[in-house]
Amino acid sequence: MLLPFFVACKDNKQNVAAGRTDSLTVPKDMHTQSNADSISMKHLDLDINVDFVTKQISGRATWDVQNEKKAKRLRLDTYDLTIDSVQVDGIKTEYTLDAFVEHLGSALNIPVTETTSQVSIYYRSGKNARALQWLEPQQTLGKKQPFLYTQSESIYARSWIPCADGPGIRYTYTARVVVPKGLMALMSAENPQQLSDSGIYHFDMRIPIPAYLMALAVGDLRFKSIDKRTGVYAEPTMIDKAANEFAEVGEMVRAAERLYGPYRWGRYDALILPPGFPIGGMENPKLTFCTPTIIAGDKSLMNLVAHELAHNWSGNLVTNLTWNDFWLNEGFTVYFERRITESMTDKSYADMLWELGYQDLEAAVEDLGKDSKDTHLKLDLTGRDPDDGLTDIAYEKGAAFLKLIENNVGRERMDVFLRKYFDEHAFKTIYTEEFLQYLDEKLIKGDTALRNKLNIDAWVYGPGIPANCPRADMERFKKVDAARTAFLSGAAPATLQTAKWSTHEWLHFMRKMPRPLTADKMKALDDAYHLTQSGNSEIADLWFIMAVAADYQPAYPAMDKFLSAVGRRKFLEPLYEEMMTTNKQQMAKDIYTKYRQNYHPLAQMTLDKLVLNK
Ligand SMILES: [Zn+2]
Repeated sequence: MLLPFFVACKDNKQNVAAGRTDSLTVPKDMHTQSNADSISMKHLDLDINVDFVTKQISGRATWDVQNEKKAKRLRLDTYDLTIDSVQVDGIKTEYTLDAFVEHLGSALNIPVTETTSQVSIYYRSGKNARALQWLEPQQTLGKKQPFLYTQSESIYARSWIPCADGPGIRYTYTARVVVPKGLMALMSAENPQQLSDSGIYHFDMRIPIPAYLMALAVGDLRFKSIDKRTGVYAEPTMIDKAANEFAEVGEMVRAAERLYGPYRWGRYDALILPPGFPIGGMENPKLTFCTPTIIAGDKSLMNLVAHELAHNWSGNLVTNLTWNDFWLNEGFTVYFERRITESMTDKSYADMLWELGYQDLEAAVEDLGKDSKDTHLKLDLTGRDPDDGLTDIAYEKGAAFLKLIENNVGRERMDVFLRKYFDEHAFKTIYTEEFLQYLDEKLIKGDTALRNKLNIDAWVYGPGIPANCPRADMERFKKVDAARTAFLSGAAPATLQTAKWSTHEWLHFMRKMPRPLTADKMKALDDAYHLTQSGNSEIADLWFIMAVAADYQPAYPAMDKFLSAVGRRKFLEPLYEEMMTTNKQQMAKDIYTKYRQNYHPLAQMTLDKLVLNK
């Protein structure tokens, strides 16, 4: 049930005076079957082996537990895991595995007593482990060694570790990971910078994190330092390019700290994954996982790194309690990302990102339906895969809501508020109603005119794009609009002033083109700007979508190559969708069937539905 905001505020006054905030009902996380609310699980010790032949992670997960509430059993989340045996305080114990529940998997029940302090589970991952992508050597850049990486967000950690898999449950961990000799293993922890001769790696993560931030990558990897607390890992052929692209990342961390306080995670390194990675980046603590599609050669897509970095405050430090509150992770992060980017460039540059984000928000609302509850900031994902909430609503509507607040209270007050928010909630969780209460207490402070102006209910519990949604200045995009209009009226591309355009200007130029363009116009653009051969994946993807719409065949071989290698869902989904909606279903099926095995299971889930109607 959704708690109406104003009820929360009204009750709050007395409770704030009493130093209590229990007027709110703490929501239950519907996506974990664990009983971490009865037994605390403070530390995990993993001892696992990564086997590329059987494509299996196997070993032991030992949980340090404290059974203060005298629970009769420990209940953990598992998904497609085979449990070989269980020990409680070193003694082999019977256990039961509940029936499989869609999306959630099978709960593992282990009898415990009041004095139980350690529970060990010996297990193996299954064929349907949704977090894992096992790459054959030919799917990597080097083509000689296999590669494995995980994507645990939102509820996929349970497919490679028996755990209490909810964003509200934090623990520290240590791990011993055995991999084939010659490969490097990395985790969301203190990481090695050299290959281990034995293939055995030890990890220590002393800062408590939720399960969705558990991460592992194994491959032919090298490290290159950027400055004393930042560096990059990549395959050998990519490492120099990556270090070059990431040259400013140390400065980026300092820019973030100047905005919202200290970076509290020690090192900040990035790992460039092979191109099959299904998402742009994943904010795994100490080690952001990145798609190689951000390596554009000119640092023009580094705002993605700003995004993952910002997550070290919003998400990793202050974490959404349930996936229904996902906007508190993502909306804050997009807002913060754009503030970092602005401080490293200028306002006109950040304004382009805000406008492109607004266009994404419009597209998401159109896609979901303007009255859809999935366009509320506060979601209801009960009984569903939390992945359903992974839309631009959480990201862009969430960020626009914070921008609206900033515009109304001024940047200075906004920044004081946010800095305090991060400090006071560090290493804690937050849910929507709790944030609204905090906002009311610390920023709105009884200012009814401000509260009315914000119209918070419409943003959080209402559909679509609220009427007071802020829009960015269009200074740089107005010039792009003029160039597009000139081109469509017959001006030759050579006469357009595109020389200084960033990726964002190109995206705006292309997004607002009529679709389909005529064959002549497509050819004129391609001849002038070589878009078919673009090495910038954002531009290439949009160009291929335009090519499909216009049936511009000269782009098809390059598009086929792009789809064979790139696994990022953000690029795959609209491109396959364009084929499906422009009567090229057979083309979509043929290409998808050919390259399906190159994509991560999460991307396969999305595309199976879209292309194969599964
Ligand atoms: Zn994010």
